[in-house]
Amino acid sequence: MDTSHENQPQPLRVFSEQFADIRILRYQVPGFGELPLQQKTLLYYLYEAALSGRDMIYDQNYKYNLLIRRTLENILKSFTGDRKSGEWGKFLEYVKKVWFSNGIHHHYSMDKFIPDVSGEYFLHLLKNSDTCCIPSVWKSVEEFFAFVKPLIFNKDLDTKRVVQDPEVDMILTSANNFYENVSQNEAEEFYKNQSENSGSRPVSFGLNSKLIKEDNIVKEKVWKFNGMYSPAIEKVIYWLEKAADITESELQKAALTKLIEFYKTGNLKKFDEYSILWLKDTESEIDVVNGFIEVYGDPLGRKATFESVVSIRDIEASKRAEIISKNAQWFEDHSPSNPQYKKKNVTGVSARGINVVVESGDCSPSTPIGINLPNADWIRAEHGSKSVTINNIMEAYDMASKESGAIEEFAWSEKEVELSKKWGLLASNLHVDLHEIVGHGSGKLKDGVGNPSDTLKNYASTIEEARADLFALYFTIDPKLIDLGLMPEIETGIAEYNSYIRGGLMTQLVRVGLGKNIEESHMRNRQLIAKWAYEKGLHDNVIEKKTKEGKTYFVINDHILLRDIFGALLREIQRIKSEGDYEAAKSLVENYGVKVNRDLHEEVLTRWKKLNIAPFAGFINPRLVPVFENDSIVDVKIEYPDDFSEQMLEYAEKYAYLPEIN
Ligand code: ZN
Repeated sequence: MDTSHENQPQPLRVFSEQFADIRILRYQVPGFGELPLQQKTLLYYLYEAALSGRDMIYDQNYKYNLLIRRTLENILKSFTGDRKSGEWGKFLEYVKKVWFSNGIHHHYSMDKFIPDVSGEYFLHLLKNSDTCCIPSVWKSVEEFFAFVKPLIFNKDLDTKRVVQDPEVDMILTSANNFYENVSQNEAEEFYKNQSENSGSRPVSFGLNSKLIKEDNIVKEKVWKFNGMYSPAIEKVIYWLEKAADITESELQKAALTKLIEFYKTGNLKKFDEYSILWLKDTESEIDVVNGFIEVYGDPLGRKATFESVVSIRDIEASKRAEIISKNAQWFEDHSPSNPQYKKKNVTGVSARGINVVVESGDCSPSTPIGINLPNADWIRAEHGSKSVTINNIMEAYDMASKESGAIEEFAWSEKEVELSKKWGLLASNLHVDLHEIVGHGSGKLKDGVGNPSDTLKNYASTIEEARADLFALYFTIDPKLIDLGLMPEIETGIAEYNSYIRGGLMTQLVRVGLGKNIEESHMRNRQLIAKWAYEKGLHDNVIEKKTKEGKTYFVINDHILLRDIFGALLREIQRIKSEGDYEAAKSLVENYGVKVNRDLHEEVLTRWKKLNIAPFAGFINPRLVPVFENDSIVDVKIEYPDDFSEQMLEYAEKYAYLPEIN
């Protein structure tokens, strides 16, 4: 009798709850219970380090986020009035939305959202709650309310977290907390002066600081030990130091030690050194991303939000990733890009499938499904990059979506539905693998051309994501993938083409409010690619727009020709990046990536509404609980909480290291 599955945990119920435009799901960590104690303990320390930094992102996203969040949490904990009323329910929904977005601006649209209750009701909540937590600068509840009311209720104040409009001063109009009293010109000047003469290995100037102007002097407040955010960073350091004592290898220890040095000094050179050590460590089973990493929150693409992802290698998923990684040079050689912009030696593209144990900061509750780091272009060029796909998250998504009815609604034919159901998970896994492992790592800049953040500015992220997506798409129906054993038949790739076009031209629009343009980089890139391909293929009817019973469908008639179109666009986008062609980047993104056809948008929203699936999803993390005996850890248990609000309150209680206003 096969008893090998006896110790496997029962499949988790993935869906937890749905509110506003958000679904809350859960993911499982296969095999955690069987890990040796050292690995469990290491994971636990890294878990604590991840969550210790959590409050930083609230403050980075908006100066008053922590003040507002703590006020809301305090009401939730201590309000003595009616908790059954409809208004209380609406208030609760607002609180959950704030948690989900790490602040008062929507995590995707970046727009400020306001609660669906009146100011009077909010004052009533405040008056009937414990007021001990209101900072003492406010002498009364009324005075405090007068201060926070416009922050929460006035839609015209600090309207958008990240403004990506080249016609306005993007720094002054963005509500994020990366700049204060500084204009876009001043910020650009400040970093231009720093970037000049920085050689071929420039540090990522501005990555870990807030830029402010005081007494007419523009200067940085650095996020480090004894600097800005020190109370949280001290805790992150504390747990990283414990982790560094029990690493799996000397290399892993060296990397963590360098990361600690970076947090202690704020020295960006140390961060680059850390990144190189980290990407070289491909042997460890356990891995961690912890730091100021992603720059999407800054219109200038310099300032990075805090994030952490703690993970264990997934053996099966890693096999697929390793095959792609081993063949990186083949992909580079066979890409349609101009040979002068290709790498002669693709080095160090290392890839693995992972299962996450906890996520924090910019990766939570909304999470990526793949990560490719480091971001510094010169490190990628000289040392390569490390790439992961997050297997347990993708599985949870797949389980949640199979029953949703969305595929049936937007796919043209039975055949398309069938392909999607049969190959959807493998196809999207392969897409993410190709995007992360060979896509981002491919290509090179022309000699003398600066970082894309300097040359392509606010279009750099969209162009980079488009480049990685196109690289993946170009190879998705290549028979080479069958030869390599990555997919059993071309139809797997066909399924990916179908879903990419459905998504890029239609279904992703459910994430955009009617009448709005597309702002987010990944969404812009997907529409850019799909719309450009649709337009270029019109003559040969490559993608056909059809209608049936008043509903619109985009149907691919010729997948081979579509591949050629993807190839042509990849070649152009690689050229734009390599040459730093700002005007061409602007024209592509503005003409194809930003604007939305209102009629189609309205139709998509109506069709989606009937399905009753919230367009965004995020995750409750597992909880790691150490078991102590005589002050030493003898085991670490994993638990799977089922209540989003409880987890958020638990984190708020345990990891409240920063003051309300920093
Ligand atoms: Zn990407």
